Amino acid sequence: MDGLTAGRIVHIRNEKAEQPKCQPAIVVTVWNDGHGINAVVFRDGSNDNRHDGGNGELTRWATSIPETSELGPTFHDPRTCEFAS
Ligand SMILES: [Zn+2]
Repeated sequence: MDGLTAGRIVHIRNEKAEQPKCQPAIVVTVWNDGHGINAVVFRDGSNDNRHDGGNGELTRWATSIPETSELGPTFHDPRTCEFAS
C-alpha cells in the first residue's frame, strides 16, 4: 500500500474468521523488515466482541499484519476496499 505510515487508516480483514468483516484500524507501526504493520483495531461495540473474542473493549491491538496472506488477517486501503463490510 503506497504511503503507508503510522497514523494511516486501513481495513483489517480475516478471511479465515467465522464471519469475515473489514474492521477500521489505525496503523501504529510499519515494519520495514517484511513483518507488515501493527495497528489498533476499532470494534463495532458488542457486535464485534461476540465474534472476535473481545471482552467489551472497543479496541484491540493487531500485530504483524501482512498486506497479503492465505493464512490469517490482512490489511488493505479502505479507499479501494472490494468488500461490502
Ligand atoms: Zn475493506
